[in-house]
Amino acid sequence: MDLSLVDASSVFTDCTPTNQTLLGFHASVFSHSISKNKPAKLDDVRSNGWLDAMQSSSPRKKTLKDIAIDFASDDSDIVYYSWMLKYPSALSSFHHIVNRAHKKMIVIFLDYDGTLSPIVDDPNRAFMSIDMHSAVKGVAKHFPTAIISGRSLDKVYELVGLTELFYAGSHGMDIIFPAKDTSISYTSYIQSTNKQQGKEVNLFQPAKEFIPMINEVFRTLVEVTKDIPGAFVENHKFCASVHYRNVEEKSWPMIAQCVHDVLKDYPRLTLTHGRKVLEIRPLIDWDKGKAVEFLLESLGLSNTNDVLPIYIGDDRTDEDAFKVLREGNRGYGILVSSVPKESKAFLSLRDTLEVKEFLNSLVIWKEQLSNTII
Ligand SMILES: [Mg+2]
Repeated sequence: MDLSLVDASSVFTDCTPTNQTLLGFHASVFSHSISKNKPAKLDDVRSNGWLDAMQSSSPRKKTLKDIAIDFASDDSDIVYYSWMLKYPSALSSFHHIVNRAHKKMIVIFLDYDGTLSPIVDDPNRAFMSIDMHSAVKGVAKHFPTAIISGRSLDKVYELVGLTELFYAGSHGMDIIFPAKDTSISYTSYIQSTNKQQGKEVNLFQPAKEFIPMINEVFRTLVEVTKDIPGAFVENHKFCASVHYRNVEEKSWPMIAQCVHDVLKDYPRLTLTHGRKVLEIRPLIDWDKGKAVEFLLESLGLSNTNDVLPIYIGDDRTDEDAFKVLREGNRGYGILVSSVPKESKAFLSLRDTLEVKEFLNSLVIWKEQLSNTII
C-alpha cells in the first residue's frame, strides 16, 4: 500500500482506524520533520468536521441560563426516557442479565474516565470515590475484571490501584495479563515477560513500534499549543491526548488547527474525538473491541457458551467493544450516558453512581448465590 496516498484528514473524524495492513512497518521509516509556527488556516478544521465533533463531543457544563431552562421544561427527561426504550437501564434489566448468566462465568470490562470516575477539569485528578473503589474491588473478588482505558497503562494502574484486576491502557494497545497461558493465537505480538507484584505477567503491545513517533508528536503538540490557555497535552505512551476542556470555546478552532497541522506530517497516525479531548493514535487495526477479544482469549474465556462478558463505558472508543459483543451476541455492552446518543450498546446507565450501584448489585447477587449453593 502506498502510504503517501493515505489522506489523513479524511479519516480523522472516524473513530475506527481504517487501515488494516500496517502492523509490522517500522516507525522510523515514516518519521517526518514538523513545520512549526505556521499561521493557522481555520478552513481545514471547519471543512473536515473537526469543530462540529469537538462541540458535540461532550455535554456542556450547565450555565445558570441552562438550569433555568431545565426548570421550565421537562422535555429533556421525556427525550431521555424515550431513548431508554431502546437502551434500557442495566439496573432495571438486572434480573434479565443474571438469568442469562445462569451457569456462565460473568467477565467484567470497565472503562475508567466517565465510567468509574467523574469527568473533571484536571485529568490528573480523576479519582474514583471510596465507594466506587470498594465496588470494583468487590466485583473483582467474584468475577474476572479488566480495566480498558485510553490512559497509559501505568497511569490507569496508579489511579485504580487494585492488583487483582487486569489492565489494558492506551485504548487496549498496552495490555498486561498472566503469563501462564501460552496457547493464545497472538503469541507473536507478545513483547516481553515482566514481573509485577511478584507475579509473572506478559505484555501485549501491538503498537510498540509507534512509541518514538508518539513521543515526537507529543513534544511537538506541547510546543504548538503552549500559548493557548487551558490546553493540556498528555503522553499515554501509545497515543497522545490534547485536552481542551479548560480552553475557551473561541480558541477551539486554534486547538483543532494546531493538531491538524501536526498530524498532516504523520500519515500513520489518526485522530479520534473523546469527551473534550483530541486523541492521536496509531493507524492500526486494534481497538478496545480487539482488546476485549484478546483478553477473553488470553484468560481462556473465549468460549461463548460458558462466558457472559459485560462491558461498561461512556466514550466513543468504547463503541468498538460494544460492537464486538453485539455482533457476537456475547453478553452486554452498557453505555454510561446522561444524554441520549446512538450506540452499539444494549443497555445504559445514567452516570457513575448508577455504575457503582450496578457493580454492587452483581456482588450481592453472587454472594447470595454462593450462600444458596452452600
Ligand atoms: Mg471514558
